[in-house]
Amino acid sequence: MEFRRLGQSGLVISEIAYGNWITHGAQIDEEAAHACVRAALDAGITTFDTADVYSETRAETVLGKALAGQRREGLVLATKVCHPVGPGPNDRGLSRKHVVEGCEGSLRRLGTDYVDLYYAHRYDPAVPLEETMLAFADLVRSGKVLYIGVSEWTAEQISRAAGLARELRVPLVASQPQYSMLWRVIESQVVPACEREGLGQVVWSPLAQGILSGKYLPGAAAPAGSRASAEAGKGFVDMLVGHWMNDEGALRAVQELGPVASDLGLTMSQLAVAWVLQNPSVSAAIIGASRPEQVKENAAASGVRLEQAVLDRIDEILSAYIVR
Ligand code: NDP
Repeated sequence: MEFRRLGQSGLVISEIAYGNWITHGAQIDEEAAHACVRAALDAGITTFDTADVYSETRAETVLGKALAGQRREGLVLATKVCHPVGPGPNDRGLSRKHVVEGCEGSLRRLGTDYVDLYYAHRYDPAVPLEETMLAFADLVRSGKVLYIGVSEWTAEQISRAAGLARELRVPLVASQPQYSMLWRVIESQVVPACEREGLGQVVWSPLAQGILSGKYLPGAAAPAGSRASAEAGKGFVDMLVGHWMNDEGALRAVQELGPVASDLGLTMSQLAVAWVLQNPSVSAAIIGASRPEQVKENAAASGVRLEQAVLDRIDEILSAYIVR
């Protein structure tokens, strides 16, 4: 496993991180979850990503248990706050109250005294950004959070947050957006803003939730046991996987990536992970997995370098379907 600095910070993270959205506490049972975490550790992954909202907080508990007994200093643990985790009006959002209480809940469930990286999961337009940033800064000063990040914020929101973080002297170091061969929305504005402000990209769904593994065939039903056929997280899957699943042309184009991967001795999933890591502003790709074999396979994409001719070929194959 290769490692990168997170943005311009001193924090070193594995360039492939393991995330447990939809899987832990929902799609897969606890034994399979532990096996995936074990496979991640065996592959040299040190960086783990979760959120309070995943599986209504159960994902944090499962991850905490799976990592129990590991040397804490050897891990980089990240979690997030913003989405609703309870029935009350203050059980959501980026108010000082919810950011501080949310962090306490995450620490309890993860079984740790601090998280390395704490993200604002979405921008909250209802709360003054100054209030949110001061709450994050206080968590940093209390030692409960070491670094802070944002997820799916616009370039303008990131620049404002970075200005406040500088005033408060706290390390805003990560942006967590969706990024894959098919979904390149961050390239035009978010990446330049983050490069100016020193944030690294820790990108989610590098396989477009499994689409880029090539297992979803045009005109065929989703294979049994796949995320697209699972009940867990159905709304999100319909929204994201569904975007491509309903586009036979896109699925056909993805199939054309098969020979590109095999010519390089890679699987399609490895090609997809290696592709996001070619972008120098990407600090890590967060992979998901429903079984340990997938973790082993995808983690082997670490260190793979793709020639410009390969990148050009990929662009040519996918050109009609890339979302920018
Ligand atoms: P991926 O794009 O890596 O998709 C992972 C899924 O693809 C697996 O669960 C599996 O699903 C399938 N898959 C993985 N490897 C293979 C393989 N080798 N062959 C066939 N199928 C494979 O990432 P995720 O969408 O899971 O997201 C990764 C992480 O990113 C999340 O866990 C979370 O930590 C983070 N995230 C953050 C968000 C945010 O808003 N900040 C939003 C979403 C995710 P299956 O076997 O079930 O088909």
